[in-house]
Formats: sequence, C-alpha cells, structure tokens
Amino acid sequence: MKNIAVIGAGTMGNGIAHTFAQSGFKVHLIDISEDSLTKGIATITKNLDRLIVKEVICENQKLETLQNITTFTNLTEGVKHSDLVVEAATENSELKLKIFKQLDDVCPEKTILATNTSSISITQIAAATSRPELVIGMHFMNPVPIMKLVEIIRGYNTSDSVTKTIMDLSKTLGKVPVEVNDYPGFVANRILMPMLNEAIETLYNGVAGVSEIDTVMKLGMAHPMGPLQLADFIGLDVCLSILNVMYDGFKNPKYAPCPLLVNMVRAGKLGVKSGEGFYDYSSSRKAEQVAKQFLK
Ligand code: NAD
Repeated sequence: MKNIAVIGAGTMGNGIAHTFAQSGFKVHLIDISEDSLTKGIATITKNLDRLIVKEVICENQKLETLQNITTFTNLTEGVKHSDLVVEAATENSELKLKIFKQLDDVCPEKTILATNTSSISITQIAAATSRPELVIGMHFMNPVPIMKLVEIIRGYNTSDSVTKTIMDLSKTLGKVPVEVNDYPGFVANRILMPMLNEAIETLYNGVAGVSEIDTVMKLGMAHPMGPLQLADFIGLDVCLSILNVMYDGFKNPKYAPCPLLVNMVRAGKLGVKSGEGFYDYSSSRKAEQVAKQFLK
C-alpha cells in the first residue's frame, strides 16, 4: 500500500494526510474548496514546525512530508491511482453516500474505501458501493498526528482480510487500532457524546458557568480538557450531528441533543473552527494558546 487519497482537508483530513505523509506514504489530499486545501496545508506546515521545535523531526523530514502531499479539487483525478481512500468530508450521511458511490465508480476495483465518520453507519455507506467487503471505518481522533487511537469499525460485510490490512496499516502509522462493530456512535462517541451533551445541558440549566463546568471535569476527573472546550475542538456541528445519528439510531431520548447546542449551531457558533463556541477563539493567537495548553 503506497498511494493514499484523503477526501476533505478540514480538521481531520489535514491531520490524516499529515500522518500518512510523515510515515512515507504518497498522499493525494482532495477537497471541493480550494480555500480548505490552502488552510489544510498551512495547518500541516505549522504542526510540522511544532514537531521540529520539540525535536521530534528535523527540517528534512518536514520537507519530505510536505513533498509527499499533492492537493486536488477534482475527486476523480485525486483517487484514480489510490490503494486506499480515507474519506473525511463533512459529517452528513447524504454527502457521504454520494461520495462513496462516486468512489466506487472511479477507483480501481481493489481500492479499499475507508471513512473517518464519527457516527454514520459503515454498513449503510458500504451499501452505496458494489464492494461492501472493501469498505471499513477508520476513525482517527483529533488532533490526528498526536492521538494514538484509531477505532477500526467493521461494517456488516467488511472482510477479515481488509480488517487485518487496515489494523496493520494503522500500526505502521504508529497508532493503536481497536476493532469494534458497527452500531451508532461505535464505542468512542457512544460514550463521549452523552457526556459532552450533559455538560451542555448543565450549562443550559444554569447549574454552573462554562469555566466552572470545565474546571470540575479537569481537576476533579483528571480530564486533560474540559467537556465544553473539547466540544469546541471537535466542532459543535459535528457533536450535534453525531448525537442526532445516535438519537435516530437507538430511538432513545437520552441521546437527544441539548437545545442550547442546537441553537449555537444554528447561530454559526461552531467552536474553534468558526472562532467562537463556548469560548472565544476570535484571534488565531487565542486559539493557538488554547491548543498549546492541550497539546503540550
Ligand atoms: P470539517 O468541517 O473541518 O472539514 C470537512 C471538509 O470536507 C471541508 O474542508 C469541506 O470543504 C470538505 N468537503 C465537503 N464536501 C466535500 C466533497 N464532496 N468532497 C471533498 N471535500 C468535501 O470537518 P471535520 O471535523 O474534519 O470532520 C470530517 C469527518 O471526520 C466527519 O465525518 C467527522 O464526523 C469526522 N471526525 C471528526 C472529528 C473531530 O474532532 N472534528 C473527530 C473524528 C472524526
């Protein structure tokens, strides 16, 4: 496996591209937005500079990593020689089904199609293709270059050999893969999202303020980041959409998104990526300071 295509250059896509490129893979990074591609490459460059400062890599490794990445706005062009596609486009099931149908049409027939979806059914995505045995969930965590876990989700039809290939590949990237089955939220978000939603509900009910809630969880539960700040980092739109998938999938009111979360997303307060969520990140310096706290 040499040629990897990554679809989406946003929060996750640029981190996934960075991680593969730093491990020596040739990466085609694809996004419909030229602006996202420019920002994605700028983020990768900044994160590589940070690794140089920490003496994890040298200048040459930074250059090699950047040289391993080519950007595309045309999906067909970007994926046509790929051994593996990792899709990390916006969390929207209609969009993902459309992308996978197109990938099935234009990728070589042996290409493995992985999705970084946080919650959408792998089995449903696989059903949009004629190769469901080659479709798998490869759920990286944010920030991808730093977080060790990759949740590997087997769809109903995912083959044993594809699962093994992707588990082994994740280890090559220096990650720790964990195999799970395909039910709403998988494992990571099934446990995490109700906690984040409850933190938002606690704020909504006026029990405590933003920094009080986060401080309780950081200092009381030894979480490296408070739940409201973590929600900002994940993206409030992403949190809302995952909760909705679990709410629909289990038909259980315990997953109903808090009305405050719904309102904030409607108002465009999406967290770090929009400059404001539960915290203010309006200057890139402020966002940088918060990121440093978390990443050190
Ligand atoms: P994001 O909004 O930061 O980026 C999404 C990118 O997809 C944007 O750049 C957008 O232009 C691009 N895009 C949209 N439609 C496209 C298309 N048809 N073709 C190519 N590119 C397209 O989103 P994100 O936070 O990076 O999330 C991406 C995926 O990763 C989602 O499925 C999400 O659930 C999952 N995920 C997110 C996190 C997180 O912490 N944000 C963690 C794990 C998994």
